[in-house]
Amino acid sequence: MTTTSAPATFPDIDPATGETIADIRSATPEEVTQAVARARAAQPDWAECGFEERAERLRRAGERVLAARNELAELITREMGKPLGDAEREVQGWGSTIPTILDEVRRALVPEELEGKDCWTRVVREPLGLVAAITPWNFPVGMPLEILIPALATGNAVVFKPSEHVPLCGERLAELMNEALPPDVLVQIHGAGDVGAALVAAEVDMVGFVGSRDTGKAIMRSASERLKRLVLELGGKDPLVVFADADLDAAADCAVTHALRNTGQVCCSVERIFVEDSAVERFEELVVEKARDWKHGSGLEQGVRMGPLVSAEQREKVIAQVEEAKRHGARLLLGGETPEGPGWFYPATVLTELDPELAISRQETFGPVITLERFSGDEDEAVRLANDTPYGLGANVFSGDLERGQRVASGIRAGTVGVNRYLNAAPGAPWCGARESGFGYIGGVDGHKQFTLPKSISRPK
Ligand code: ADP
Repeated sequence: MTTTSAPATFPDIDPATGETIADIRSATPEEVTQAVARARAAQPDWAECGFEERAERLRRAGERVLAARNELAELITREMGKPLGDAEREVQGWGSTIPTILDEVRRALVPEELEGKDCWTRVVREPLGLVAAITPWNFPVGMPLEILIPALATGNAVVFKPSEHVPLCGERLAELMNEALPPDVLVQIHGAGDVGAALVAAEVDMVGFVGSRDTGKAIMRSASERLKRLVLELGGKDPLVVFADADLDAAADCAVTHALRNTGQVCCSVERIFVEDSAVERFEELVVEKARDWKHGSGLEQGVRMGPLVSAEQREKVIAQVEEAKRHGARLLLGGETPEGPGWFYPATVLTELDPELAISRQETFGPVITLERFSGDEDEAVRLANDTPYGLGANVFSGDLERGQRVASGIRAGTVGVNRYLNAAPGAPWCGARESGFGYIGGVDGHKQFTLPKSISRPK
């Protein structure tokens, strides 16, 4: 006798109002298995049709996503709260990079010819088979595209589970892409962490994941059972180091923008700021002045720069960190009071004089909180402070002396560092988390190669 699990639902909640947008049916364990089987059956033909046809279809998929940018942006704002203009820029920004990514994948797939003493060897890049794509809610279109495009372009099929906070964004994205793809090459399922865990444990060959460090570790444990391949893009506690000779206005702009953007819910948000003693007062003034301009409110309102946090739990986490810091003597320079009324809003908050052992200094905050600490101006101290977390995603250094900035950047253990600018790198650079910020990496020719198996075929000379 076979038993089937009863379908469960979960609420899709608008974080600006707390109201339920829809009840979403979660995939049952049987449906996870079926989704994997369907995608696996579709994969050989997809691999067989060759890169150019796959690229052409994915280019068309990208055009459909871009054509639907207004609809997708509205969904993003409703489901996770970010201001509508930011949501439009997300769709436009990631959607328009698809042709560039496809060109990089073309280069990643070029076979290599090697000569040995008595043989010729051709190294070809084969797809791994079936990729599980599990993505977060902070960039509901951008993050999935970072995994889906290289995974599919290299000839894999994908089962895609968007975050339970943005199910309709994920569903619509998959529908739009599927208008240009053969059936079942991209299968989308709904659900929370239990469905994600079932997908990782299913017959998949690789997991492409963007999300929190703890979930990344759980996925790695589960994937180790059958040594499934992994790309894990995890969180960070990114430092920004400001030397007194820096352009303080530019450094403060970078600090505020990248601590508050997306209401601080970005894996590479600026989360710890270290300012050289003699510049502290001026820097504090600049930061507070600039942070005041970051009005919070519904993402549908004009002039709002920060929407709500994504959920009540996320806001509770931010409140707990700020309140603990206040109890332990931190000085509050701005914000720090939870607004009354519906929605998970939290104001731009600036804190200084923090106890370095508290959660706010050590754990990812993922909220609109700017923390300022002082240091002596010594380069080694800057490096030590910047490295004093288990993370290693991004880092930023501002100094009037570019060589000093670059020396400090070399000492910081992070995948991406910006000197006298935010850390965004030129197109084609990999996005890589050092230490506990990731495993494997996304982007660039080498990043795409991780979705393939390099297979060496030799023949005698
Ligand atoms: P966040 O705390 O930012 O929501 P998570 O890492 O919990 O980040 O979630 C990111 C994605 O991982 C979501 O799609 C979520 O449903 C999924 N997820 C959560 N727990 C697990 C798990 N144990 N295994 C696989 N996926 C999971």
